[in-house]
Amino acid sequence: MPKKLYVVFAVVLVAAMVLAACAKAPVATEAPAATEAPAATEAPAATEAPAATDQQLEVFSWWTGGGEAAGLEAMIAIWNTQNPDIEFINAAVAGGAGSNAKAVLATRLAAGDPPDSFQGHAGQEMIGTYVAADQLEPLDDLYEANGWYDVFPATLIPLISKDGHPYSVPVNIHRANVLWYNPKVLAEYNVAAPTDFASWLAALETLKAAGMESPLALGEAWTELHMWETVLLASAGPDLYTKLWNGEADWNDPAVLKANEDYNKLMEYVNSDYATLSWQDASKLVADGDAAFNVMGDWADGYFSGTVEGGNLGLTPNTDYAWMPVPGTQGNYDFLSDSFNLPVGAKNRDAAIKWLTLCGSKEGQDAFNPVKGSISARNDSDQSLYGVYLQSAIADWAKDVVVGSLVHGVVANDTWKNQISTDFGAFILDKDAAKFQASIVASCAQYGPCAE
Ligand code: BGC
Repeated sequence: MPKKLYVVFAVVLVAAMVLAACAKAPVATEAPAATEAPAATEAPAATEAPAATDQQLEVFSWWTGGGEAAGLEAMIAIWNTQNPDIEFINAAVAGGAGSNAKAVLATRLAAGDPPDSFQGHAGQEMIGTYVAADQLEPLDDLYEANGWYDVFPATLIPLISKDGHPYSVPVNIHRANVLWYNPKVLAEYNVAAPTDFASWLAALETLKAAGMESPLALGEAWTELHMWETVLLASAGPDLYTKLWNGEADWNDPAVLKANEDYNKLMEYVNSDYATLSWQDASKLVADGDAAFNVMGDWADGYFSGTVEGGNLGLTPNTDYAWMPVPGTQGNYDFLSDSFNLPVGAKNRDAAIKWLTLCGSKEGQDAFNPVKGSISARNDSDQSLYGVYLQSAIADWAKDVVVGSLVHGVVANDTWKNQISTDFGAFILDKDAAKFQASIVASCAQYGPCAE
């Protein structure tokens, strides 16, 4: 890995490690002074970009269903009120976790045809991928003008910054390590909610022995890797987990092998058609009582509790569905953050700046997050607008040890993550725990921070 990238990577990961400790402290003094902002000449010259119209705004994301679409619609409604003359073009591409959207986006960026703003995760996905490729404009002026250094967590800022300049606007904080379950199913089978990994396995075994064919719901490839990262966190604990990603610990550690072995045990209880199911399909197995458990990020709360008219399930929290941290990860918050940015060469640059202003605002975030199933990235949100799950997430975010998600862009750049995904695909088939561990040792050296 080039030295420069490695340094950015190390800074970002160290920041992730201390996120919980200082999540609430504003860092106005760390903000780049206005005079440090890159000169306007660093932005692409107007002549290089296609003619701007600013009568349209094209926003690219992968929010097309359930609470995801509802959250975006809530922001679009505000946009239309504030900007009746600027048409909002929703360029969302379906596929959870950006599984399809990111390839479409890469093609457009390579062709010099960026949307006016696109969704990307805070962390290495943003800094080690788009910023590293000089595809985004810095947003210093916007941060100064809106006072965002005072309202976003001080430790989130480095995850969207390079050389002290911020490159995206976080709209939320999501949690990845949530075990969703159907309390009615557990009651019917007389199974208690698990307290640790061993009791989770015991509960799965009890359910299976009692006739539930696949008590653990699972979906397509990225959801499989998503579950693995939470099992790794359970096995390694937050300190080692973070050090594995930032290059301070060795992937040969026995905790990694144990995580892979534990994962194989869980796979004995999943639905056989997992590879063909979306994350919503897998969540629905739990909602319908066809499975008892599913590991998924808290966007599932938007899907479970959102309105049926909005394409959601309209369920009652703590009655129809319930949650706990993935067993063994209690007290840890495996976090990620969606953010929007200003691509170099955006056709409607002024409109994009208005969009980013809305994304970072209290009004925008408090309209978006309660239906999306995420908490505000701002420290001044109106908590009374959030449902019972999200209020528990707000409380946990304030006290838990925070670590970063792999699948959702925080701890690894896209190249490393994609290699891990490929190797994980082989692991899912051959179940060779030691081989998968060895593959991460190798890919960390090739694309991550483990290079000599
Ligand atoms: C995004 C969420 C989204 C989820 C499922 C994650 O990568 O950060 O906003 O809800 O994928 O599509």
